[in-house]
Amino acid sequence: MVTKAKRVSYSKTVAQALKWAVAYLKRRGITQPNLDAEVLLGHTLALDKSALYFQLNHPISPTELATFRQRIYRRSRHEPVAYIIGQKEFWSLDFSVGPEVLIPRPETEFLVEETLKIAQGMDKGNIKILDIGTGSGNIAIALARELGSCWILALDISFKALLLAINNIQKHEVEKRVQLIASDLFQPLKRAGASFHIILSNPPYIAEEDWEYLPPDVKEYEPRLALDGGAKGDRFLRRIIHEAPDYLLPDGFLLLELGHNQAEAVQSWVEKEPRLDWISIIPDYSSIPRVVVIKKLPIHRGAQRTL
Ligand code: GLN
Repeated sequence: MVTKAKRVSYSKTVAQALKWAVAYLKRRGITQPNLDAEVLLGHTLALDKSALYFQLNHPISPTELATFRQRIYRRSRHEPVAYIIGQKEFWSLDFSVGPEVLIPRPETEFLVEETLKIAQGMDKGNIKILDIGTGSGNIAIALARELGSCWILALDISFKALLLAINNIQKHEVEKRVQLIASDLFQPLKRAGASFHIILSNPPYIAEEDWEYLPPDVKEYEPRLALDGGAKGDRFLRRIIHEAPDYLLPDGFLLLELGHNQAEAVQSWVEKEPRLDWISIIPDYSSIPRVVVIKKLPIHRGAQRTL
C-alpha cells in the first residue's frame, strides 16, 4: 500500500515556530507552554523575550528550527528548561546548571536576603560564612557579590556539583571570596577548628511520603542527593541544628531553608538545644514558613541559669 507522504515544511517564522511549540507542549501537559516555548526559542536564536516579539515575522533557519524542535521534544518529556539551556537566573545573576545540581529556586532568595540583613550588623570585611550543600554555588556567590570583602566556605558532598560551582565562581569573579570543599556536612572542619559568623543551608528536606507527589520535572530530573531528606525529610536539618553550635562563633547566626511543614519540628529542636536561640521565621511568596533564623547564644541558656 502506498501512503501519501506528509509534507513537512522546514521554513517557519518565529511566530509559526512559537505557535507550533506552544500547542505541542500544551498537548503533553506542560503547565507553562508559552513561557517555556519563548525561553527555548529565545535561547536558540540568542534573542531575549522582547527582541523575539519584534521579530515575529522573521524566518528561522533550518538548523535553528531543528535545534528548537529538539529542545521542545526534551521539554515535552518534562526535562526542566534550566537543564535544557544549561542556565538559571538567581538573585539576578546567571548560573550554569546541569542535572548534577538542584535548580536554584526563587524562594531560596529569602535565605540570601535574610543573611544580608544579618551581615549588615557585622564587620563585613571580617565575616566568615559557611554554606552547606552549595550545589551550583548560587547562595555563596550571590552573597559574595553583595558583601564585597568576606570569606565564604562552600561545601558539598557531590564532586560533580563542585565542578559546576567552580565554573560559576569563576564566571562571577568571586574566586578570592568563595572557597569550595568536598564534605559531608561538618566532618573535615572538626580538625581544622573552624568557626563562622554565619552558617546557612538549603539542605535536602523532601520526606519519603512527599516523594510521589513531586512533579516529574523534579522527581525524574533533579539529583536525589540534593532533595532527599530521609524518611521524615529532617535528616539534614536535625544534624545541622545539632552540630552547628560547635562551629558558630558566639552571637553567630544559623539560617536554614525548610520544607512546607517543618517549622514546628525545627523550633522544638532549637528550643531543646541550650546553645541556640530561636529568632524568627520568614514566610515565602506563598506564605509558607520558609527560612528560619537561629542565633548562637554567647553563653549556654543552661549555664546562664546557674550564674
Ligand atoms: N544551595 C543550593 C540551592 O539552594 C543547592 C541546595 C541543595 O542541593 N539542596 O539552590
